[in-house]
Amino acid sequence: MAPNILRNIPSVSDLIDSPQLKGLIDRISHNVVVTGVRRTLDDLRKEVAGAAAEIVLPSISELAERIAGRILKSEVPHLRPVINATGILLHTGLGRAPLAQEAIDAMNSVAADYASVELDLTTGQRSQRVVVVEELLTQLTGAEAAVVVNNNAGATMLVLAALAADREVIVSRGQLIEIGGSFRLPDVMSTSGARLHEVGTTNKTHLADYEQAINDDTAALMRVHTSNYTVVGFTAEVSLEEMVALGRRHRLPVIDDIGSGAMIDFAKYGFANEPVAADSIKAGSDVVLFSGDKLLGGPQCGIIVGRRESLEKISSHPMMRALRVDKITLAALAATLRLYRDADKAEESIPLLQLLSTSLENLKNRAERMAPQIADAEAVAVAEVVEDVAYLGGGSIPTQQLPTYCISITPAHGGVDQLAAQLRAGEPAVVGRIQQDRLLLDLRSIPPRRDQDLVQAVGKTESGAEKRG
Ligand SMILES: *Cc1c(COP(=O)(O)O)cnc(C)c1O
Repeated sequence: MAPNILRNIPSVSDLIDSPQLKGLIDRISHNVVVTGVRRTLDDLRKEVAGAAAEIVLPSISELAERIAGRILKSEVPHLRPVINATGILLHTGLGRAPLAQEAIDAMNSVAADYASVELDLTTGQRSQRVVVVEELLTQLTGAEAAVVVNNNAGATMLVLAALAADREVIVSRGQLIEIGGSFRLPDVMSTSGARLHEVGTTNKTHLADYEQAINDDTAALMRVHTSNYTVVGFTAEVSLEEMVALGRRHRLPVIDDIGSGAMIDFAKYGFANEPVAADSIKAGSDVVLFSGDKLLGGPQCGIIVGRRESLEKISSHPMMRALRVDKITLAALAATLRLYRDADKAEESIPLLQLLSTSLENLKNRAERMAPQIADAEAVAVAEVVEDVAYLGGGSIPTQQLPTYCISITPAHGGVDQLAAQLRAGEPAVVGRIQQDRLLLDLRSIPPRRDQDLVQAVGKTESGAEKRG
């Protein structure tokens, strides 16, 4: 039975001559359309060959329509802007910190042209690509030198490889962190070639523990900020100052992984335990590492600041070449850092700080304004304003909560999962947070300029999403 039908399946050329696909060839490319046609015809052949009974073939026009739909769907970029309504400000899955306009402008201006990445325009000499940001980083942190790499995991790997390969690094058992599953300090350490020498216990580590562990093979003492957990109860940690004094006595560098890399004190936003890079340098750390896209609110990168002697070993290590950042990251980072020269300017311009400093009253007013508009959407039965808590995210501590207001949506038909899925797939994409049978849209992580886009995105959803597959 099947062979007859197989013969009736249209050819590639029949299809690409159809008006629907002709237009796409002009708009996209001949190759893309022909590949799309071949795939669909292959699927159709399999379907016919595998069918128990004879099936009715679609017409050429129906097939062309199906293929065009498939091609257009694949043309939507996978990486697109998202309205983050999760209330998690540094959502790693959503790219952590949004950038300041100044950083975006700086990226744009170097992207289209050649740029002075490794050329000093005053002298015409070759120079290191980091000099653009080195001066800003040393000014802001008080360090002697700086290096920028791909991310903080890369920074940790590089620092350990450059300062401690085949030797020991002493770390407290209470600081052997895992961040986001793929960053586990013991694994990073072994990959770098350094040997972990654990000291103390999970809850208590004393100076004597470090001191007794020092031997001829010791290369460094390391402190790691336990960004995403706290140990409570009977605890003891050695202060950075004590570690530095011990390191000095034994001529050992102290490496301080502060993680989120605040440039300013976050206590004013309710986060009392976020280490500030300048404080660590002031306490005498030889090398301080942190992320560029966490509390700093800049592009993804890993920043290493510290003493010139250690930084020279780090920047001349062969792994540096594999981890270096491009001109676009450097431009964005430099522009973000420039804003920090004036704390008020930073708060005005850096999106993360704007979101953190938005008053509760502002969030409440906006939620009250939007809720009735959202309630008008076909897919929405009820939209009400609720008070809740938001989180910093990005490997920060989940016990620290931010007060916030949300719009809580009860879907008209179908489940809350379907509504959430429609919003994720929409244009613009919206990611909210599901709480029992409600979808919460948290205003803490939404810049006000996106409010109307959010309302429109919900307006485009349809009830009974299950029927549309
Ligand atoms: C987040 C974090 C890292 C990993 O940084 P990435 O920029 O995600 O690579 C390493 N150490 C600490 C303490 C962190 O908080």
